[in-house]
Amino acid sequence: MSSRRDFLQKVSLGIGAAAFSDLPAVAAHINRGQDKQLRVAIMGLGGYANIVAKGMQECKIAKITGVISGTPSKIETWKQKYNIPDKNTYNYETVAQIKDNPDIDLVYVITPNSLHHKHVLQIAAAGKHVICEKPVADNAKQAREMIAACEKAGVKFYIGYRLHFEPHTKELIRMREAGEFGKIMHVNNYAGFKIGDPTQWRLKKSLAGGGAMMDVGVYSLNGARYCTGEEPVWVTAQEGKTDPVKFKEVDETITFQLGFPSGIIANCGCTYNFNHVEGLKLMGEKGWAEMNPAFGYGPIRLNTHKGNLEAPDVNHQAYQMDGIADCILNNKPDPNVSGKEGLKDMIVIDAVYESLKKNGAKIFINK
Ligand code: NDP
Repeated sequence: MSSRRDFLQKVSLGIGAAAFSDLPAVAAHINRGQDKQLRVAIMGLGGYANIVAKGMQECKIAKITGVISGTPSKIETWKQKYNIPDKNTYNYETVAQIKDNPDIDLVYVITPNSLHHKHVLQIAAAGKHVICEKPVADNAKQAREMIAACEKAGVKFYIGYRLHFEPHTKELIRMREAGEFGKIMHVNNYAGFKIGDPTQWRLKKSLAGGGAMMDVGVYSLNGARYCTGEEPVWVTAQEGKTDPVKFKEVDETITFQLGFPSGIIANCGCTYNFNHVEGLKLMGEKGWAEMNPAFGYGPIRLNTHKGNLEAPDVNHQAYQMDGIADCILNNKPDPNVSGKEGLKDMIVIDAVYESLKKNGAKIFINK
């Protein structure tokens, strides 16, 4: 049986050697001691945390210095593997103490979706910068509270949108911004995979917040936003459920349509119940783009009216972490990965679920 791993494909090759070689010296306020690096603690040592940690071994300016976990045996393994001292390890009860730890600048929250809100509030209260995995929260109300808490605490809040650091995706966005596709006319994005273990948290509403839409629908939706450069003003959505037992609590397959201010319609979809569903298509008056694979860990491919893009296959997690470290250490603007970007997607996801509740009714989005 195929798995999420099949959908997300293999962890990709190496980080391009030159990519961060021209990074300027880091800001003095965060550059304590000799290591000019952003010191990161990972919260929740599950599947994706392991992929992030492996990728981070290629980072130039971000480094794992701590962990927060509810599983003592994992803490022991990570201590050995990543040379983490005992004093930089926490569990979910002791995490508030992280505020007194000068070895940790930022916490990367990689716990189940419905815990993101609570965990980000805890990290903000501890005065540390935070990256939160997608989806940012269960709903837009929670996302707004997270943004407000981080602003109040004076810490930076990012979302783990790794594709915004990926060269093929960046080129697609650059071409669209440069007008190379002309007026964008239509977008068509799909993401999904067949989910395995029926007992996992992803199928429990209390921990996942929702199903395919929350998990992989975010890719179709975020992709539609970066294909158009606009924010949706209305949404319609439909759910297909072929296995009501497995998907008793969460959505299985969703198709949704996004209407944008210029009149563009994006047709999007996501699923938890079949494989080989991935791709992004942008159709413009002067040109077109197709990405497949578009959303996995790589390699990502971009084909356009100009031909196939020759760009390096990079390690997404390493690029994301060095990219965010560069923003923080050098006070640079982030490439569309702030908590506010997570909120923009969450507003649309709320509208998708509202449309489903109302039998596919058109939901207008209030800004
Ligand atoms: P896992 O189940 O593999 O790991 C989640 C970890 O969270 C657990 O191992 C556990 O770590 C911790 N945790 C804390 N409380 C609970 C709880 N009540 N139930 C289960 N786990 C708990 O999930 P993933 O790593 O696959 O996903 C985590 C997050 O990362 C999700 O939000 C997901 O959407 C996101 N993700 C993002 C990807 C991307 O490409 N950007 C790819 C995959 C996932 P511990 O034992 O250390 O406490």
